[in-house]
Amino acid sequence: MRRLVILGGGTAGTMVANKLRAQYTPGELEITVVDRDDNHHYQPGYLFLPVGIYSDDKIVRSRHHFIPDGVELVLGEIDRVDAPRKVVHLEDGRELYYDTLVIATGVEPRPDLTPGADSPDVHHFYDLPHASALTEAFKEFRGGRLVVHLTDMPIKCPVAPLEFTFLADAYFRERKSRKKVEIVYVTPLDGAFTKPIASRELGTMFEKRDIGLEADFAVERIDTEAKELISFDDRHVPYDLLVSIPLNVGPEYVARSGLGDDMNLVPCDQHTMRSLEHPDIFVLGDGGTLQTSKAGSVAHFSVDVFMENWPYYLAGEPLPHSFDGHANCFIETGHGRGMLLDFNYGTQPFTGGFPLPLVGPMTLLGESRANHLAKLAFRFVYWDFLLRGRPLPFTTDMHLLGKNVEGEASGTSNKDLLLSPFKRKPAKPATKSRKSSRPRPAPHPDPQRSRPPSSASRTKTPTPAQPVPDYVAAKGVDSTADAADILPDPIIPKF
Ligand SMILES: Cc1cc2nc3c(=O)[nH]c(=O)nc-3n(C[C@H](O)[C@H](O)[C@H](O)COP(=O)(O)OP(=O)(O)OC[C@H]3O[C@@H](n4cnc5c(N)ncnc54)[C@H](O)[C@@H]3O)c2cc1C
Repeated sequence: MRRLVILGGGTAGTMVANKLRAQYTPGELEITVVDRDDNHHYQPGYLFLPVGIYSDDKIVRSRHHFIPDGVELVLGEIDRVDAPRKVVHLEDGRELYYDTLVIATGVEPRPDLTPGADSPDVHHFYDLPHASALTEAFKEFRGGRLVVHLTDMPIKCPVAPLEFTFLADAYFRERKSRKKVEIVYVTPLDGAFTKPIASRELGTMFEKRDIGLEADFAVERIDTEAKELISFDDRHVPYDLLVSIPLNVGPEYVARSGLGDDMNLVPCDQHTMRSLEHPDIFVLGDGGTLQTSKAGSVAHFSVDVFMENWPYYLAGEPLPHSFDGHANCFIETGHGRGMLLDFNYGTQPFTGGFPLPLVGPMTLLGESRANHLAKLAFRFVYWDFLLRGRPLPFTTDMHLLGKNVEGEASGTSNKDLLLSPFKRKPAKPATKSRKSSRPRPAPHPDPQRSRPPSSASRTKTPTPAQPVPDYVAAKGVDSTADAADILPDPIIPKF
């Protein structure tokens, strides 16, 4: 019997425990999930607390509701992983031996890493205590300068600071106090939106809402006495109420275990989520170095690929199924409307429609009421379907159906999508043939890195010829290829 230990009982850890338990009996696979406490948080809900759309009771549930029978839930703080000996040490001295380890401990907001940011006067909404404190601060705010600040990327749900800004604008308008509130968005990026199509579609939204933008702002410290953000190039941004999204880094045990990079993220293969150093360790969810959004949707799609590869892993074969970086994110824009983005490693978010069965099509990169309702409904989908590993009407690979494809594009064609039910991937490895069912991407040129190197520093590795599907334009790319091999700068949604 194989022993699997899953570190983290959040989105990815719970999902994968459910999916594996449904396929393997406890006699075949012993599954243990470790988390520090029994409170599972629906993190997208934090956004809605300060603006009065949700209350705490909509956000937290016992982990026990979602961990299936036959899976042991161990509550305790992880101290370190001894990867060579295949044992996890908990802070209370307990030891858990494994054959396979899944790291699903995500990332956490760390205001203590920026001078001044961990003051009680500096707010954020990236955990429940801070979102609750911001709720009170919003109620008491009578007017002045509200600054929404992004410290640096990557953060989980990279669009959440923008959503919060739009929701804050709507919150004060609905209370007829918007004229007394100046809103400024401060970002280290070169704009609120960095990719061409998204910029074109969304660029005017700040202007229309009278929201100021301070770009290219690399914060050095926050002076809470003077109430100012101060950048390394000595720009000062004053505030009356500050919402500063802190750095998001992996947990400290990752560093203590020698498994992480400088952000405590575990370097992993972009397509299989397998640790680059330890073949019996996989990283699911936010805690790895996938060059796509840190988002629940990415956890969902990448867990699906992990499940497809699992039988091959057990058989000791190469892993044939490849994650394409697919992410989709709803963005709240206020006044009961929202947007939807859909992209992968090789594409930027396009306009058009997302063909969601029954309720779709949803508007891509455009505001609609349906997108807002879908975002609110997602809480029920999260608790009752996603976490429990039940099927959802989303394809794991990103597809182009309904999209207005402009410029260079990749993804699955309409034809592929329509034919996909007849081209199901095999559930088990073939016993004789070791050939993969899809073209394998070229190895990453620099597998240890966590961020894309600058184009100047990158040495181009010759990529072996890959079969290119006929829908891809001459200058287009194959969505199964590594983004760093095919684009000058991989498209990492930064807006
Ligand atoms: C404000 C906000 C809004 C968001 N909105 C969206 C959205 O609209 N759509 C979307 O797709 N995603 C959204 N996300 C992102 C989404 O919540 C995360 O990407 C997702 O939860 C990641 O799953 P995970 O399993 O990697 O990590 P998590 O779900 O964070 O789980 C990690 C688990 O590990 C445990 N853990 C960590 N360290 C230790 C330790 N040392 N010992 C024991 N246990 C430990 C934690 O307690 C936690 O339960 C949002 C996130 C935030 C903060």
